[in-house]
Amino acid sequence: MRAIRRFTVRNVLPERLAPLDTLALNLRWSWHTPTRDLFASLDPELWERVHGDPVELLGSLSPQRLEQLAQDPGLVGEVERLDADLRTYLTEPRWYQQLDGDGQHADKPDTIAYFSAEYGVTAVLPQYSGGLGILAGDHLKSASDLGVPIVGVGLLYGAGYFKQSLTRDGWQHETYPLLDPDNLPLTLLREQDATPARVSLALPAGRTLHAQIWVAQVGRVPLLLLDSNIAENDDVSRRVTDRLYGGSADHRLRQELLLGMGGVKAVREYCRITATPAPQVYHCNEGHAGFLSVERIRELVQDAGLTFEAALEAVKAGTVFTTHTPVPAGISRYGTDLVSEYFGGGAEIDGVPLERVLALGSEEFEGGNPAVFNMAIMGLRAARRANGVAQLHGKVSRGMFHQLWPGFDVSEVPITSITNGVHGATWTDPSFSDLVSERLSPEQITSGEGFLLQPEEGGISDEELWAMRARLREKLVVEARARVRRSWLDRGASPAEVGWTDDVLDPDALTIGFARRVPTYKRLTLMLSEPERLTRLLTDPERPIQIVVAGKSHPDDEQGTGLIQRLVQFADDARVRDRIVFLPNYDIAMAQSLMPGCDVWLNNPLRPLEASGTSGMKCALNGGLNLSILDGWWDEWYDGRNGWAIPTADGVHDQTERDRLEAAALYDLLENTVVPRFYERDEAGVPRHWMEMVRHTLGTLGPKVQATRMVKEYVTELYTPVAASSRALDGTSHGAAQELATWKARVRAAWPSVHVDHVESEGIGDVVNVGDQVEVTAYVSLHDLCPDDVEVQVVGGRVDDQDNLTEVRVFPLRLKESYEGGRYAFSVSRVLEGTGPFGYTVRVVPSHPLLAAPAELGLATSTS
Ligand SMILES: *Cc1c(COP(=O)(O)O)cnc(C)c1O
Repeated sequence: MRAIRRFTVRNVLPERLAPLDTLALNLRWSWHTPTRDLFASLDPELWERVHGDPVELLGSLSPQRLEQLAQDPGLVGEVERLDADLRTYLTEPRWYQQLDGDGQHADKPDTIAYFSAEYGVTAVLPQYSGGLGILAGDHLKSASDLGVPIVGVGLLYGAGYFKQSLTRDGWQHETYPLLDPDNLPLTLLREQDATPARVSLALPAGRTLHAQIWVAQVGRVPLLLLDSNIAENDDVSRRVTDRLYGGSADHRLRQELLLGMGGVKAVREYCRITATPAPQVYHCNEGHAGFLSVERIRELVQDAGLTFEAALEAVKAGTVFTTHTPVPAGISRYGTDLVSEYFGGGAEIDGVPLERVLALGSEEFEGGNPAVFNMAIMGLRAARRANGVAQLHGKVSRGMFHQLWPGFDVSEVPITSITNGVHGATWTDPSFSDLVSERLSPEQITSGEGFLLQPEEGGISDEELWAMRARLREKLVVEARARVRRSWLDRGASPAEVGWTDDVLDPDALTIGFARRVPTYKRLTLMLSEPERLTRLLTDPERPIQIVVAGKSHPDDEQGTGLIQRLVQFADDARVRDRIVFLPNYDIAMAQSLMPGCDVWLNNPLRPLEASGTSGMKCALNGGLNLSILDGWWDEWYDGRNGWAIPTADGVHDQTERDRLEAAALYDLLENTVVPRFYERDEAGVPRHWMEMVRHTLGTLGPKVQATRMVKEYVTELYTPVAASSRALDGTSHGAAQELATWKARVRAAWPSVHVDHVESEGIGDVVNVGDQVEVTAYVSLHDLCPDDVEVQVVGGRVDDQDNLTEVRVFPLRLKESYEGGRYAFSVSRVLEGTGPFGYTVRVVPSHPLLAAPAELGLATSTS
């Protein structure tokens, strides 16, 4: 076979239209309707054909058509106006620039490097598999809107995830069409002399992995995407970035090495070439990018002469880790033997010993597997701050990872939570946004209050809102019909057989959506528990429901693909096929019409395995109501008026029985509450009670589910404090990092000889009266440690029937007296509040002003 040298011919735009290139390459168009309208106006038919892809559109217009357009003064004016508007958006001071530089945000970082294995920014750049990627995309977009100086880092997968279609009998079929980066909204990062910038990574056996760096401009935020498909690499290395979440463990490990270690190098190159200040904060979004810490340790050891331990402290001081799943399959884990191939033997990095790298991800704790290297554990060990993505998920994560902090109560595990959000402008239907912005002031929209106003108070009437909801539903129905038709043709039906698809779904029927990835815990087929009961709901002649379902299953997940087939086969039945449809190839483009068009968004995961979930938030932004298990974000924000909570059978351990019970509760809710409320109309044809819930959702949930709210919380609660510790430990000098490392080593070595010898209490008998003063004195032996190295604490709380402390609170004791031989007395006195069974213990924990949390070392010695 002859080697084909590919190249892409790009259109050269007439000078007056030249800004169109900038407008196409900055992905702000993906959430800026006027820019998309401009592109559409160049050739509406072509715009449809290229699925709203500006780069492809510009590449497909004929030179004659472009010349003709350049002669249209109205169009040229609009191009100039939007170009200027983009420039203003990119340069004007926004929320972050106006943050108080002296007070709470005095330490706000100059740059934050945000690492993620996937990004869902637009359907045009398919570099995501599901919620994790969409969240990362929404994080970048909202950071851009707020002016937060983030640099995103990821990989450019040559075939993205996969395209889903169905076989005749309902099996998922995967294809991997290759993307051509030259036809994507990307530019190659180049040196001043135009040669492409490169990063490289040493591999075992003296091999090297090279990558080039594409930049996707997401508004103000650059997203660096590493691409190993270049001529310098051998065939194996070229394939490292071939696709997302595919291939062997070795293949995925190489991807994660490139993402983490190569990613740091890419950030260095980008900062050097563009004169961007170096990041103080590195945000590791889920564990895939965890090796970023190893690369930063390598830099400090080799370039700044730090010891491994001091470098780890410096690196940790600037790292944020976010965990996204309590499901073990969602966490990257490798055999330690495989990781050793990359960091041991001939591949060992100078100053970064193999066993230190392995220790970062080791599962050497109760219940762990010592032969496994765990990327989430590495993320936690190498981070100053860690968080889950909803309050409940924070709690579940503290329980899941508490073995890393032995001696501490689960509530003290240093994992907080920031609840996910979604990018408003991406996920609100443009026609709905137009209506809202015509009628309400920006403040009324941001606060949500405008949605709660009646027309006489300047609000939007129920009639208008209801008509808007009907338009969104109809738009979805029209699109679903086209997709169902295409799917049947793909499945081998002849055009003559698919006439019925013109009438599937009813623009006036109660429309329920269910779309998400298909891991087992999300229970795609829970709705099929009682097929006859579901059929009755679907085919009710007066008050039917209709269900739109979509979702991809990971190709290796046989159970997931089996669930899809079950659902498809149910939906194929001629009795119900015009009331329940499965739409193949769930992606951002589908989501953008699906979520606005649904009246009800159904979510029935196995609690508490859904960390947050975000699709229901997107639905809520458009006035859809949630019908969901109290899991993830819904556990936090369901308030009785914004939708419905499906009761869970939490205590039932038999999985089948639990599914049966929860499905029955779902049917009950649909039959007795949801359906009647939707169809209960007044003389104007409006379901008043329903609309009250819609308004309440828009007004109270709308502001909370915004990713701007989420990013502000990251800035205030995580990025700014982490930037402060990063400057202290990883600034121009590293004295503090060295000091902390030395102190930790000393404390660890001395800890076995720390004891609580004896505790005396005054005022505590078997029964104590509320309001009484009690005093606790603890006599402790510290031997080689000083009183300043530790904190002695009373850990108190209520005692449950199993004699465990609950609602734990911690009170520090003060040094009272010193004795010979490193012995000390510490005491505290307190007035008792609250009544009931209480208990306490005394413990000693390490204490140092540079520690992130008392639990950091996982050392605690209690009264025995
Ligand atoms: C929002 C979204 C998701 C994530 O939805 P969850 O509710 O978190 O499961 C996945 N895929 C697409 C295309 C989305 O738009």
